[in-house]
Amino acid sequence: MPENPVAGFGVTFKDMFKKRLTEQYPEYKKPTAPRFHGRHQLNRHPDGLEKCIGCELCAWACPADAIYVEGADNTDEERYSPGERYGRVYQINYLRCILCGLCVEACPTRALTMTNEYELADSSRESLIYTKEELLAGLEEGMVDSPHAIFPGMTEKDYYRGLVTEAAPGTVRQTPTDTGAPQESADTFGADEPAAAGDATFEAAPHGPMTHGTVTSSGEGER
Ligand code: SF4
Ligand code: SF4
Repeated sequence: MPENPVAGFGVTFKDMFKKRLTEQYPEYKKPTAPRFHGRHQLNRHPDGLEKCIGCELCAWACPADAIYVEGADNTDEERYSPGERYGRVYQINYLRCILCGLCVEACPTRALTMTNEYELADSSRESLIYTKEELLAGLEEGMVDSPHAIFPGMTEKDYYRGLVTEAAPGTVRQTPTDTGAPQESADTFGADEPAAAGDATFEAAPHGPMTHGTVTSSGEGER
């Protein structure tokens, strides 16, 4: 028995008059810092073509082995990016990702940036493997969805010089034949720990494409 039974309430009384730290999440979502590392985004050129060239540098830079990329060749009939290659398959496994941003630093084309979106929890492992369709930025005014032809008279370099500011008049989307499905469905993340809970195939998660213009933590103003 303490000498003074009321003394035990001292801490309680002291804290009663302090500022409350409780946050009413999810009703109130506290804004993140501007450069917060959240969900990734695959950016587009101003005419809608994709910036990703399928080089896999982001996957090699990732310390958690969370990225899976398969590149493929563009053709005149089906062009996804201005240059020779594009990212045919692109997946980020958010069960592994530690949101360090090293992949963004490794990307030579600024195709990959990170948004401020942090609500990445879900109820299944499969749904946390985001596909290219889910990571690709949405369409902004002046863009036409890929695949489509390169801007007439422009080269790949001109895209990076900022000379292409919108889709050429009359640009129409080509008929895509590429389904984006991985060529090898099993063990895309290594034999020890397959990408999706040991299943050889997995369903795409029901996430929508990124809203275009989402604040990016490491690529402000990126398209
Ligand atoms: S943020 Fe880090 S852990 Fe996540 S995919 Fe990029 S490099 Fe890998
Ligand atoms: S996101 Fe960047 S680094 Fe990764 S494959 Fe595409 S172009 Fe290469």
